[in-house]
Amino acid sequence: MSRYWSSLVHRLTPYVPGEQPKLPNLVKLNTNENPYPPSPRVVAAIADELANGGQALRLYPDPNADRLKEAIAARFAGFGITPQQVFVGNGSDEVLAHVFIALLRHELPILFPDITYSFYPVYCGLYDVAWTAVPLDENFALQVDDYAGANGGIIFANPNAPTGCLLPLASIERLLAVHSQSVVVVDEAYIDFGGDFGTDSAIALVNRHPNLLVVHTLSKSRSLAGLRVGYAVGHPDLIEALERVKNSFNSYPLDRLAIAGAVAALADERHFETTRQAVIHSRETLCLALRSLAFEVLPSAANFIFVRHPQRDAGDLAAALRQRGIIVRHFRLPRIDQHLRITIGTDAQCELLIVALREILN
Ligand SMILES: *Cc1c(COP(=O)(O)O)cnc(C)c1O
Repeated sequence: MSRYWSSLVHRLTPYVPGEQPKLPNLVKLNTNENPYPPSPRVVAAIADELANGGQALRLYPDPNADRLKEAIAARFAGFGITPQQVFVGNGSDEVLAHVFIALLRHELPILFPDITYSFYPVYCGLYDVAWTAVPLDENFALQVDDYAGANGGIIFANPNAPTGCLLPLASIERLLAVHSQSVVVVDEAYIDFGGDFGTDSAIALVNRHPNLLVVHTLSKSRSLAGLRVGYAVGHPDLIEALERVKNSFNSYPLDRLAIAGAVAALADERHFETTRQAVIHSRETLCLALRSLAFEVLPSAANFIFVRHPQRDAGDLAAALRQRGIIVRHFRLPRIDQHLRITIGTDAQCELLIVALREILN
């Protein structure tokens, strides 16, 4: 606290990211990073950008990252997406921040689930957006009918975090139809770990619903959390609002290395497919192993699972795992303080987790 702080800063409750420990050799299953490296093409493209002694770094990057917008639009060409329907930012967290001030700051409170990405209330605090939490049902499922009435907008993660539950596209379409007066934001940070590409993403609905904005990240399914690239897809009017905010804040959110790396990542469909299938496969194996240790495991469409043990305190389990060099995420929040969120690692990491849990439970 300081008298030099603005009153806004006094009131803020910042987001607390999962720990990034400095200790080596930890089995890090706490922040939903991908256990596999990014495509080798990413590394090559970044090296190219650094050629000739880094000459290119003298110059500002393309403020609009047009190459990247074209690559993203091309990826969703099957849904008729054009580059004018794409916004890019420094991680999807930055994209989301702009969404809150550009599209969700209205008279009425916005709605989001009581259990969801805990950054949403933080943005509301930063930008003075009123909000109402809508409880998920007893199985942590979002019920569209609970979102009745006027509102300043709706945002939710799909698959949801930290539960991993997937809301079917048909339900999203119903929500969009009922709430055509407000913007509906679907944060699809984990969508690539769900089912088949093209059947689950709400990007398929963008050209039928001018109030829909879908947010993606390269942090999880493209193994690029360290590069900070996220994007949004929606009607050009929604994108223009985001561009207006971005150009009132930072004209160059994506640096040269990020643009080059992101374009290269999107071009390597084979690497993407191989690594995401490996994560999905490990997830299913880990779910079976945990169930055999009496854990309750929610069905997950993400690169993490949400579990609880009927006889063991979640905080104690997390602490015991940590002593054995394995870190998972435990949220001390209502309704979920007896759950653990476990990121899917390599098969070898999952095996270490199971061995440790067997030891702890005995
Ligand atoms: C990880 C995550 C993000 C943030 O992703 P970045 O692109 O790394 O900023 C956004 N939303 C949800 C639900 C996430 O889990």
